[in-house]
Amino acid sequence: MEKIHDLKWLFLDLNSYFASVEQQENPALRGKPVVVIPTDTPHTCAIAASYEAKAYGIKTGTIIRDARRMCPGLICVQARHNKYVDYHNRIIEEVVKHTPINKIWSIDEFDSRLPPSKRNEKSARDIAMRIKHGIWNNIGPAISCSIGIGPNTLLGKIATDMQKPDGLVILNPVDLPGRLLDLQLTDIPGIGINMQRRLNRAGITTMTHLWNISPKQARKAWGSVQGERFWYWLHGYDFPHQETSRSVIGHSRVLDPSLRTPEKARLMARRLLTKAVQRMRKQNLYAGTLGFSATVRGATYDQNFKWYGDIRLTPANDPFTFLAQLETLWGDMRAYFESHYNLRSPVFKKVSVSLTRLCQREQITGDLFDTPNPETREKSEKQQALAKALDHLQAKYQKETVTLGVPPKTLAGHVGTKIAFSRVPDKEEFWE
Ligand SMILES: [Mg+2]
Repeated sequence: MEKIHDLKWLFLDLNSYFASVEQQENPALRGKPVVVIPTDTPHTCAIAASYEAKAYGIKTGTIIRDARRMCPGLICVQARHNKYVDYHNRIIEEVVKHTPINKIWSIDEFDSRLPPSKRNEKSARDIAMRIKHGIWNNIGPAISCSIGIGPNTLLGKIATDMQKPDGLVILNPVDLPGRLLDLQLTDIPGIGINMQRRLNRAGITTMTHLWNISPKQARKAWGSVQGERFWYWLHGYDFPHQETSRSVIGHSRVLDPSLRTPEKARLMARRLLTKAVQRMRKQNLYAGTLGFSATVRGATYDQNFKWYGDIRLTPANDPFTFLAQLETLWGDMRAYFESHYNLRSPVFKKVSVSLTRLCQREQITGDLFDTPNPETREKSEKQQALAKALDHLQAKYQKETVTLGVPPKTLAGHVGTKIAFSRVPDKEEFWE
């Protein structure tokens, strides 16, 4: 752990990302109140709102029925996740022209560890302006970002939230606490309503209180070592995320001849993944990358073609999240074999799954970024509860008595979310 005296980190947050992409794609939407919705019903909620819609009090999570009441001229656009992924990739390509990207936190948030020679206010500001101009010129004028620069990623993220849209805020460690004291506790990523209550009970009601407690008191207030980590982050220290000893949990299977059809191979991949996720859960780990590979038979018996793909996501440990992402990879793999080798129904020889970027719960940086969407949060809580129930059954019966069908997609904006599924699982998907 090290106290940072310069501007080591740049954090970038795209403003109203999904809504901005829609405004970029369709100039008629620019300057108008626009929300992005997952399905076209009045019961759904906004998964993104343009700044013009935000002016009416509409935000992510607002029910569309209410949103229309708040803003009669509201334009609702159905989400196009593939577009958001395309733009994400193009924006990354643009940003790396100006500074290396260290970590992709979500579809609309990245950070950069600035090179040592650039960690001063002038150079950092210059990089930020070049990124902004690059996005304006090469991606499009409807896409804007807020950039925060600070001694660590938490302070960088806080700085992006201080000015939206199109912000550039520098939190220089020598000026701390400075503007931090103007914030509410809940403005800090990682402090939601529940944590605020907890802190209030510990006598901490303002940012000034929070700033003045000791690391030990922070640990006590949080009830975990996370509080102490948080304290050091807030005070401008930086430390690497603890690496876990394991770096990968994976399973692979060479398929019996009777299991080589696409549908049976797919079920095997799902089964391997469910087992890998269960192993990971037993070790209280989370994974931020799902990898999948498949080997299929070529034109002759001993000719093999192999495909590998992976998806990065906010670290998760419930099987539903990974099974949904596996479907996306499976679709990409089928498309690849069909377009490259004209294999519409390949003969599968082997399937493998891997879970990497493993970390512990308190290392999840997504933790810092509480999801604001109540629908997403509720869904993820239900999934956690169901996953726990499955763990329990597993432990009780010591075999795979219960497994999972294909779940509906969550709304979470994971990179690579491309295909929506919603169907009742087939009987054969319940193994044994
Ligand atoms: Mg954003």
